Amino acid sequence: MAEKNEMNTQGAQLDFVCTDANCNGIVKFNLMDLETADFQAMCPKCHRPYAFDPQLKEKFMKLHKLILALRDAEPILGDCNVGVAVPAGEVKIPYALLLTRLNTMITLNLGEQKVDFHLRIEPMSADTFR
Ligand SMILES: [Zn+2]
Repeated sequence: MAEKNEMNTQGAQLDFVCTDANCNGIVKFNLMDLETADFQAMCPKCHRPYAFDPQLKEKFMKLHKLILALRDAEPILGDCNVGVAVPAGEVKIPYALLLTRLNTMITLNLGEQKVDFHLRIEPMSADTFR
């Protein structure tokens, strides 16, 4: 678990299934580490290294900004809901729930392949996403 004062730079992790056809390893990396110039992610199973091209990095950085904006909005997230129409009327789904309980993923091209990057966000304060 991260130290409290590091929470701002932790807690936004992406993972994806290794693109090697014979490997089903889960490659994980932290969005915040992307800013490192020589950043590489590595498959824990087959040790295949993944370097991301500038275009892909830019998309990840946009995702990072989105997360930072969400962090900024944390104080009001508990009051925000998404309305979903169902036959019986409307169901309110808390925004915080959408962000933490449902899988957020971003699908991007990695080389020739489309890859689903799953996003895991940890809230800044434990109270926000109860
Ligand atoms: Zn692998």
